[in-house]
Amino acid sequence: MSGSTLLKETGPREVFCGLTSIVWLHRRMPDAFFLVVGSRTCAHLIQSAAGVMIFAEPRFGTAILEERDLAGLADAHEELDRVVKNLLKRRPEIRTLFLVGSCPSEVIKIDLSRAAERLSNQFQGQVRVLNYSGSGIETTFTQGEDGALKALVPLMPVSPKEQLLLVGTLANPVEDRLKTIFKRLGIHNVESFPPRQSTELPSIGNGTKVLLAQPYLTDTARVLKDRGAEILQAPFPLGVEGSKRWIEAAANSFNVKNDLLNSTLEPLIIRARKALKPYQEQLSGKKLFLLPESQLEIPLARFLNNECGMELIEVGIPYLNREMMKSELELLPQNTRIVEGQHVEKQLDRVRDHKPDLVVCGMGLANPLEAEGISTKWSIEMVFSPIHGIDQASDLAELFARPLHRKNLITPKALETF
Ligand code: SF4
Repeated sequence: MSGSTLLKETGPREVFCGLTSIVWLHRRMPDAFFLVVGSRTCAHLIQSAAGVMIFAEPRFGTAILEERDLAGLADAHEELDRVVKNLLKRRPEIRTLFLVGSCPSEVIKIDLSRAAERLSNQFQGQVRVLNYSGSGIETTFTQGEDGALKALVPLMPVSPKEQLLLVGTLANPVEDRLKTIFKRLGIHNVESFPPRQSTELPSIGNGTKVLLAQPYLTDTARVLKDRGAEILQAPFPLGVEGSKRWIEAAANSFNVKNDLLNSTLEPLIIRARKALKPYQEQLSGKKLFLLPESQLEIPLARFLNNECGMELIEVGIPYLNREMMKSELELLPQNTRIVEGQHVEKQLDRVRDHKPDLVVCGMGLANPLEAEGISTKWSIEMVFSPIHGIDQASDLAELFARPLHRKNLITPKALETF
């Protein structure tokens, strides 16, 4: 680990739960359905987080646990079987059904793995039923994707073929672009996990080299390793520097010649650095405070410091996997203050003491901080925006420059000119 200062903190948390990841997973795999076994609160969360499904038949739903279930008066398994049967009758195109656990289903201890096994047997040949937890007791919002992918790993067929496996949901155009770069480097067997169809799972085996595209896939990486894959050590593909090193890690592993690597990446890097310039001017010297939520905080801090010149006050992170973050931690400046976990009150006190120019935080904290005159950026935006890769570095920087620009526009002095 570099010279960062690592502190741990526990206390009240203010983060979205793992159910939130359904919002991007259902778009990624249109033949999958996510059935949350939860309360009306859970239903409201995904309805309002997704917020866009009014005119389309959604690919998620909630099996609502009523008071009778919560009091243990009803047989929750019978109820669940009935809901699943009705759903699959109405929606025969579903190929993979995820039963997603929630706080209420965990509190009353519904065994969803048993339910998934039973329903898989019942609907064999029609639909595969899997389960994972999105409960806010156990997960922050990106860990929902980790749980869903981990549940899919046992279904991946075995193959010893040599291949590069990109792991973690990426925007489709970004994924296409990255695959084109790998093809130019002569790496032709490149697969993605999750795939664009839940039934088209890539194979896995001793010849698989995994390049993690997202930093929150701890459990998935572990089970892929158990299936024989090699996890390549690299920073995450955010910014020019991170993306270059990420691609280099794959290139080195596939013995790509340095000349080819340099001639492929150099034009992209020159163009990206030029596009970054105006944002560097806006961000350089500005004080940044990241509150823990998405697990993307360390790669973002590295990019915003090293490539945009922002000063890091504190980097909060829900949990720290040192092995997965090794390459990132080495790139952080000396004495970066990293705080694992959260005590939201204490963290907010430190925000107020340091008066940062920008705070990256969850939606629940953004409004109160804005009301106090502190500019914010929602961390959830990072998982919905196409920010990965060399080409996207300026778009990523722009996401952070925008709130600062907005604040400049509404200062009393600026308003006087209207
Ligand atoms: S899973 Fe828990 S935290 Fe998430 S919406 Fe349901 S009750 Fe709330």
